[in-house]
Amino acid sequence: MHWEARARAIDDEYADVDRRAAFALPAGVTYLDGNSLGAMPDAARAAIEHATSLEWGVDLIRAWNSADWLHLPQRTGDRIASLIGAAPGTVVACDSTSINLYKVMHAALRLRAERTKVLTDVDNFPTDLYIVDGVCAERRREVRAVTRDRMLAELDSSVAVLTLTHVDYRTSEMADMRALTEAAHAVGALVVWDLAHSAGAVALDVEGLDVDFAVGCGYKFLNGGPGAPAFVYVAPRHISEAPQPMEGWMGHAEPFAFSRDYVPAPDVGQFLVGTPPVLALSALHGSLSVFDGIDMRRLHGKSLAMADLFHEYAEAALVTRGFTIYSHRDAASRGSHVALAHPDGYAIVQALIARGVIGDFRRPNVLRFGFAPLYNGARDVLTLVEALIHIIDARAFDTGLGEAAVV
Ligand SMILES: *Cc1c(COP(=O)(O)O)cnc(C)c1O
Repeated sequence: MHWEARARAIDDEYADVDRRAAFALPAGVTYLDGNSLGAMPDAARAAIEHATSLEWGVDLIRAWNSADWLHLPQRTGDRIASLIGAAPGTVVACDSTSINLYKVMHAALRLRAERTKVLTDVDNFPTDLYIVDGVCAERRREVRAVTRDRMLAELDSSVAVLTLTHVDYRTSEMADMRALTEAAHAVGALVVWDLAHSAGAVALDVEGLDVDFAVGCGYKFLNGGPGAPAFVYVAPRHISEAPQPMEGWMGHAEPFAFSRDYVPAPDVGQFLVGTPPVLALSALHGSLSVFDGIDMRRLHGKSLAMADLFHEYAEAALVTRGFTIYSHRDAASRGSHVALAHPDGYAIVQALIARGVIGDFRRPNVLRFGFAPLYNGARDVLTLVEALIHIIDARAFDTGLGEAAVV
């Protein structure tokens, strides 16, 4: 009962950021994977319906102008800009996070041609490391991948770019963006931040912290739908000197001039490459309307309160049942998900899913649960812990399961 009262108090305190009614969530499901695929806002479905029935279906090719499809990457980017502390006109929604990272890493390295190293986190998300390796091989730079605690010590005048993911996808630990950005700038390096697990979940201030470049994901906490376009932020001071490596017609100053030579757009539109995926962008653009009126500090505050409740309840009831708490405990530097470790983690996650509690599993033994406070509440935390208690006590999990490929 003590836990019930705690949960109710959190949900009451943060009623101002509750948008559950704006989402399509199936009955009987406790969805705790919004850090991997955000739930579907009704506004996303409405936007796709609008874009098909009224735009594509009626206006046909005229809709590039009549519905302003042409500037959908910029219009969607402006909505994302307001969530990451960026000014309008500094973000575009396009491509995937991996591709956007490729583009900004090349751009950043062009700005630091004389420097030999790229510094990153050895535990960075795999695609980020693959992309950094590839760009560095192309541009003949050394990749220096170290643990987070070594980052400041490794920063010196040989470093061209420091690139990090803000919130760790396993532990939820949040890097100190202000301190690391300042330290990089102090030695003349540029920063590229990956906000995949931050955008839409934590309060950000990329402009105030003087961030050079940032990329992030549209389908996680931004709820843009499976495979939604990602985004890219470029500080205005870098636009004219940091041409990106994929010179396509949509990044041209005048795509419809059909001129022989490439002239980059004078703004962040330069980071576009080809024709925008209008239906996917429409869904993302529509989804972002659920953030209208949301104070990101309050939203993150709710998820931190939920995670504190989770950690305490887990300490009281799950540690004795063979789990260890894997997520970062300090709320001052935590993102919006929590994690446990258990040797039978995969089988336990499958048992949870069978009971309608959807989280995910990350090798080798991590059970991960995203708290998306627009539609998750503290009651969901209790449902999760109670389900885990039941599964362990009843031994209601099958360790004979083969591991499926899980995203
Ligand atoms: C989810 C995620 C990605 C995903 O990249 P895609 O190109 O969209 O598949 C990249 N980086 C990080 C840190 C992520 O969490």
